[in-house]
Amino acid sequence: MSEYPVLRQGPPRAADGMRIRYGGCICGAVRFEVRGEPTVVGVCHCLECRKATGGVAMPYADWPAEAFTSTGETRAFVGRSFCPTCGSRLFHLSPGKVKIMLGAFDDAPGDLRPAQEGWIIRREHWLAPIGGASQHERDP
Ligand SMILES: [Zn+2]
Ligand SMILES: [Zn+2]
Repeated sequence: MSEYPVLRQGPPRAADGMRIRYGGCICGAVRFEVRGEPTVVGVCHCLECRKATGGVAMPYADWPAEAFTSTGETRAFVGRSFCPTCGSRLFHLSPGKVKIMLGAFDDAPGDLRPAQEGWIIRREHWLAPIGGASQHERDP
């Protein structure tokens, strides 16, 4: 798909100059925004992230929970939230933290580059390590 029901809403920066990034699901029922810069950007190659995403790795970025707001109904399986209408995987909310899947952002490509890779023992052999990213056999 090249067109989405809802694309970026609002300015890329808040009045205080803080960066805002926007995202949502493919059907448009769930929208979210996150303010400021992430605490970490990474890629996880673990079996759970593979199964949950249907992809062979999960690129993500973490923010403090208070930086994050969302609208629309979500459901979650073991903390992994998704849109119950279209099934898009979106983010993981846990106490004090939100982990957002990079593919859920509107900007494609985005500006966030992974600085760490976890569970590289499960990385597909046809995927190269990300240049400059720290490499971890299991959890970083
Ligand atoms: Zn949806
Ligand atoms: Zn994982």
